[in-house]
Amino acid sequence: MQPDSTHQLSISVAAGKGGTGKTLVATSMALALDAEQPGTVQLLDCDVEEPNAHLLLQPDITAQEKVEVLVPEVDLDLCTRCGDCAKVCQFSAIAVIRQAVLTFHDLCAGCGACAWVCPTNAITEVKRHVGTVRDGTAAEGRISFTDGYLNIGDQRAGPVTTVVKDRIDPQKISILDAPPGTACPMQDTVEGTDYCILVTEPTPFGLSNLKDAVLTCRRIGVPCGVVINRDGVGDDGVDKYCESDGIEILLRIPQDRRIAEAYSRGDTLTDAFAQWRQPLVDVVRHIEQLVAVTPT
Ligand code: SF4
Ligand code: SF4
Repeated sequence: MQPDSTHQLSISVAAGKGGTGKTLVATSMALALDAEQPGTVQLLDCDVEEPNAHLLLQPDITAQEKVEVLVPEVDLDLCTRCGDCAKVCQFSAIAVIRQAVLTFHDLCAGCGACAWVCPTNAITEVKRHVGTVRDGTAAEGRISFTDGYLNIGDQRAGPVTTVVKDRIDPQKISILDAPPGTACPMQDTVEGTDYCILVTEPTPFGLSNLKDAVLTCRRIGVPCGVVINRDGVGDDGVDKYCESDGIEILLRIPQDRRIAEAYSRGDTLTDAFAQWRQPLVDVVRHIEQLVAVTPT
């Protein structure tokens, strides 16, 4: 998405690995913005394999939608076992083995290519339930909230993430909590957002994951900056890397036992420490200037 004057900012919040405080930053930022300008922000939890923003925001859920994809069903009476469907499938989700045609629906991307190439019309596309998207509000109705749940055992988060992202409201500042890591679910979330905040810890392990995340953002063309969480626990490797690679450090959240205790109680930074509101709002306003989005 190219920033322009017709939509508000969309910020993805990602991390090269889990447990770095990504969701704490995303939810705290949403609450801080809401405190400054009530009713202008939405939070989308795109970590559909393990959504947990609801634990911190405690939203009122008002609607649920089933996410379904089309998967192939083979009529063996019409099938000639030619193997064309297996050859065209990019995801190894259909296989022809001797007289059997096996389908692996948890791998299927629902692209329809197998049905399209089948010379005998032996393949019918049928709906399969892969997850659920919930909508509601947090902060007494002021923050729009959406999260998604991939069904246990399903491998492909993409269709659920897509439905969550369909809820982006261009009239609001959208904060998207991305799945940890740099694989497809993270990329699906970050792609198309105006900016990606990468949350990391200042340790060698954090640095390694941060480098992967920065490369991923650059490859998909989304500008990124860094929030260092638990600043002070490790070394200066992250600082040196950011300086040498021209990556902006947007905010430092210190290693502080009181923050960890608040998080373990289910409190955000802004719930527990009001003094964090302004620095978080300042980060968003700074990003607005960086990507030149004009608030509507
Ligand atoms: S393409 Fe059609 S006919 Fe060929 S093996 Fe697959 S289902 Fe059977
Ligand atoms: S719909 Fe696409 S992904 Fe699914 S089995 Fe057919 S070709 Fe493979």
